[in-house]
Amino acid sequence: MDREIIVQKFGGSSVADVDRIKNVARRIVETKTKNNDIAVVVSALGDTTDDLEALALKITETPPDREMDMLLSTGEQISCALVAMAVKALGHDAISLNGRQVGIKTDKTHTKARIISIDGRRIREAFKQGKIVIVAGYQGVTSSDEITTLGRGGSDLTAVAIAKALNADVCEIYTDVTGIFTTDPRVVKEARKLKNITFDEMLEMASLGAQVMQARSIEVARRFNIPLHVRSSFQKEEGTMIVKATEKMEEVAVRGITCNKNEAKITICSVPDKPGVAAQIFTKISMVGVNVDTIVQNVSHTKITDISFTVPKADLNKAIKAAQEVGQKVGLGGILHDDNVARVSVVGSGMRSHPGIAAQMFKTLADNKINIEMISTSEISISCIIRKDEADRAVKALHKQFDLDKKIV
Ligand code: ADP
Ligand code: ASP
Ligand code: MG
Repeated sequence: MDREIIVQKFGGSSVADVDRIKNVARRIVETKTKNNDIAVVVSALGDTTDDLEALALKITETPPDREMDMLLSTGEQISCALVAMAVKALGHDAISLNGRQVGIKTDKTHTKARIISIDGRRIREAFKQGKIVIVAGYQGVTSSDEITTLGRGGSDLTAVAIAKALNADVCEIYTDVTGIFTTDPRVVKEARKLKNITFDEMLEMASLGAQVMQARSIEVARRFNIPLHVRSSFQKEEGTMIVKATEKMEEVAVRGITCNKNEAKITICSVPDKPGVAAQIFTKISMVGVNVDTIVQNVSHTKITDISFTVPKADLNKAIKAAQEVGQKVGLGGILHDDNVARVSVVGSGMRSHPGIAAQMFKTLADNKINIEMISTSEISISCIIRKDEADRAVKALHKQFDLDKKIV
């Protein structure tokens, strides 16, 4: 049998406690004994990253990004060491390596750094010595030797980038569900597992809130055409393949429903309706590193108007502060914010050729007495901002409306 290079990534829930770490070690060893070379990427144990973040916020409301990276990167260093120990305890040789040791070079954007290059040499050398390599996910190092992290969910990105660097045959993402579903199976019990999904659709779902994969990891997988197999670390069944579209794949109009409860809405009142004001507001906000999503501005009849937009909840204070600074210069009215919103989206590449999906979505929400506050669309998705406490009901209704509970997908 040919020797294969396999990359496996185990998420936080898969290594949440001692028994689970031992389970992961058994799965790794099973793959190894089939004559493979394996690099394993691990996330921090359970909720470690959330806990560390909360700890920092108890010290200061505005922890410096560099120190945050020093702190958060420790989570993955703990788990890779423990998994390596567990593999060795099963009688197989393993070595744990952190981001710097693996040679993951990033830019200097602390807390959401981009990978510039990976030097796969250290991993290949370990393979030559018959070792299983356990890599700390979510982290890298800058050219000036500063530790960085790759954004929440960043171990997925580490796995994809390592698969690319090693030219791996397979990249498997092990998690606590059996694959990618039509919607979050923890919210809608009728959600169905997808046999496969395209990079485009998965990227859209991930960007719109399907937590199961980090969006940036899908971008990289798509760029280098690295098929991903998302599957369960607790069950053996086949999961979902994330692939480039194939001719055989049926173009269903709606592939999935997503929900994001981690955004907040900001409304800037009494904005002078003249050229350049929106540019100043959004330039300032982008300069503090905040990504703005749906933006709504009405045509004014009185020379002043309101602008509403959404930002990640974690960036709310930064965005408000930036808008206030512009306000002092150009004379904006009050700034309102609201974090009781949710984004509910329908996603599917078949939408390009199926008209009427937006109308069906709006009608379903209306029939359920759910008010739409903002709307945005892309080529393969439609999103509505609604009240957060109505979000789960909206997802269930849309899932049913688009027959996602019935189709063989
Ligand atoms: P890990 O710790 O393995 O990285 P995550 O918690 O980041 O796992 O992602 C897995 C979770 O994503 C699942 O438990 C599930 O609740 C959620 N999820 C959201 N949308 C989907 C979806 N469409 N398909 C599968 N899981 C989803
Ligand atoms: N531990 C990091 C997080 O919770 C990275 C990851 O799990 O992928 O975001
Ligand atoms: Mg994850």
